This record gives sequence, structure tokens and C-alpha cells, in this order.
Amino acid sequence: MSVSIELFPFLSDNYCILVHDNATGATASIDAIDPAPILDMLTQKNWTLSDIFVTHHHWDHTDGILSLKNMFDIRVTGPAGEANKIGGLDNTVSGGDTISLGETTFEIIDTPGHTLGHISYFDRSNKNLFCGDALFSLGCGRMFEGTPAPMWAGLKSLRQLPDDTSVYCGHEYSAANAKFALSVDPHNKALQNRVEQITDLLKSGQPTVPFNLGEDKLANPFLRADSPALAQNLNMPLNNPDTVFAALRKAKDTF
Ligand code: ZN
Ligand code: FE
Repeated sequence: MSVSIELFPFLSDNYCILVHDNATGATASIDAIDPAPILDMLTQKNWTLSDIFVTHHHWDHTDGILSLKNMFDIRVTGPAGEANKIGGLDNTVSGGDTISLGETTFEIIDTPGHTLGHISYFDRSNKNLFCGDALFSLGCGRMFEGTPAPMWAGLKSLRQLPDDTSVYCGHEYSAANAKFALSVDPHNKALQNRVEQITDLLKSGQPTVPFNLGEDKLANPFLRADSPALAQNLNMPLNNPDTVFAALRKAKDTF
């Protein structure tokens, strides 16, 4: 039931993540951009890969799947909604399903918008969320597929998770997200505090991931589309969070 987690950078801003179920030794890679960094970490930890949990179909989350499948006897689980876009899947899941890694259970949450079938994996007993490119600290994934309302709905389901959840996302985007967040919500104290944390972490060469969900709920404009204060800053109606979310997402794209 307890897990050990390794998070390590690859290329300019991707994160590789390994989750190891301590009771059984089962080990999952959350997405798989490339076999090399994953193999290095497995060797370093003396872990054997048993699973890949895929969040969405983009190459920087899937390109390593087939080579890892050739090297290990693994089960690859991914989003049912994108099964035709991901090679090597053994198992498909969608919102409401669960998947286990040894003695650890993950709940699947639909988080569409970055891609239509994007899913996130939540380990409720250890309060760890693996959300790919759906949610970042102070930001969210670019909306490549679909429309704002379902994306906002997906982020609201992540927002319902406990405050003391640790969020493991797929990229180090916090610095750029911080600049945009401050531009739309300059008087938010929680945001100012989080930006300070991020600046300090990056200055000392540390990742800003995982991050605390409770802090992000108060600071991330994309989790606050229904906040009256934020709507007021943007001169937008107070009673239409879908519209506020759409405007935020659009503004970030050209920021
Ligand atoms: Zn992506
Ligand atoms: Fe990505």
C-alpha cells in the first residue's frame, strides 16, 4: 500500500515518474517518453518495470512504450478514448475505473481538454495524483482538443481531491505559468506565496513538482474560474465560470 516515487527530468522540461509499490515490488512508469532515462532509474533503484500508466497520446508521453515492452514483461494501461492513437496498450480505462499496482489502487479520473481522452491516476490511500498534462502548478495543459466546458469540468474533479494531495504532472512549466497567473490575479496572496516558493526552488535547481494541491487550489487561476475575485479582475460575469475558463485558456495561449 505504501509507495516510493522517483521523479526525474528529461529533455528540456519533461518529467519521468516511476511509482513503486513497496509491498510487492510492482513498478509503474507514468507515461514513457524514452526508454533510456527510465532504464537508468530502474537500475539505480534496483526496480523491475511491471506497468506503464499512460495519460494521453502525445509522443512525449508514449514514444518509449514499445521499446520498454520489448525489454520487460509489462502491462500497458491507457485511456480508452485514445486507444486507437497509442501503440502497445494491453488495457484501457476511463473515468470511474480503477487499476492496481501491486497492493496500491489508482482511481481513473477523466481530464479531457489537452487531449479528448486524457485521464489522470489518483492513489487515494497515499494521496498522490498523476495528471500528465491536464494540470500543472499555476496552470493547465494547452487545450489542443475539445472545448472549454469539459476541460473545466475535469479540472473541477481534480479540485475535489483532498488538499494534502501531492500532484505529479508531466512538465516543469511553473515559472511561465507563474508569470501569467500574476498577470490575471495580481492581488492573490496565496498566488504570491506560491510564486515565491517556485522562484526559490528553481533558483536552487530543484523541481517545483510534486506540488501541493491545496495550495494550487488557492493560487492557480485555472482552478479558480468560478472565483468572483478572478472574474472581477478580468471584467467578466461572476456567474459563468465556463466563459471565464475559456477566456483564461485563450489568453494564456498568446501570453
Ligand atoms: Zn501532452
Ligand atoms: Fe506533454
